[in-house]
Amino acid sequence: MKKCTFCIKEAIYFRPYSGESFCRKCYIKSIEKNVTHTITKYRMFTPNDRIAIAVSGGKDSLSLLCILNKIEKKFPKSELIAITIDEGISNYRSEAIKLADEQCQTFGIEHHTYSFKELYGYNLDEIVKASESGGKLTSCSYCGILRRKALNLIAKKVNASKLATGHNLDDEVQSMVMNLLRGDIDQMRRIGSVLEGKKNRFVEKVKPLCHLPEKDVALYAYLKKVRFQSISCPYMETSMRSDVRQFLNDLETKHAGIKFNIFQTFKKIKDKLGNEERKKNIKNCVICYEPTSGKICRSCNILSSLGLELQKPKLL
Ligand code: SF4
Ligand code: ZN
Repeated sequence: MKKCTFCIKEAIYFRPYSGESFCRKCYIKSIEKNVTHTITKYRMFTPNDRIAIAVSGGKDSLSLLCILNKIEKKFPKSELIAITIDEGISNYRSEAIKLADEQCQTFGIEHHTYSFKELYGYNLDEIVKASESGGKLTSCSYCGILRRKALNLIAKKVNASKLATGHNLDDEVQSMVMNLLRGDIDQMRRIGSVLEGKKNRFVEKVKPLCHLPEKDVALYAYLKKVRFQSISCPYMETSMRSDVRQFLNDLETKHAGIKFNIFQTFKKIKDKLGNEERKKNIKNCVICYEPTSGKICRSCNILSSLGLELQKPKLL
């Protein structure tokens, strides 16, 4: 068995893209160092931040909670809060919420859970049902649009100055390639490790795991014995994202490090595209009063397109 590149112990894992071998302890250290480095590189936090972590109960968000809980101890003036969205997916969401809650209790972190039902008046099962007769989007698109708005609403509600999500390198690169394939330049501008906030409107969003491949996060969660939900959502898309995921994984197997190269290339493209979002005049949605660049926000738009009655989110 090979030795760890960093100490004298036996290695448990060889990382192809860096050519390094790791024992358990040095592997955990390397992941935590990677996240610290990402936070510093993109200036994600300030020492006084009140950071809301979006915890879904999956391996990425619970690993992020674990790592930020450790890093945050060095910054006594900062605070961590966890927020969870219950989309309302039968036989799926409740286990994840329980795991998120248990982990927050272990760390002594305040945990807030809000449901789509409370916020919008409908759970995802009802929205998917309504979309069966002519809805134009996939279940994941409805879910994603409503969850993004919900996270921003709750982050504002708990007075968070930052919203940290568990998106890893694979998530980011898949989204980048999907936007490229769809020719969606606007959406390409909206992806990134740090998404600027707008005073009192959008809470700044940061992705501290964006330099870590999904596999690396999964191994970290396993070695740290993080209990996470492993079953897949029943609505998980089997369309374009799965194909892109498979394509990128095949490429990575043949050309180690290619996902990171794609990530860096898209970052350069995004910088060249400029931030049109910043120039947009942000108004209030005429239905829910939440920020939007149009007359009606995207969430209200998709719900009304399904013939569902709209309401101001009950949270506010
Ligand atoms: Fe929502 Fe799709 Fe994720 Fe399920 S797989 S939680 S529907 S985004
Ligand atoms: Zn709205």
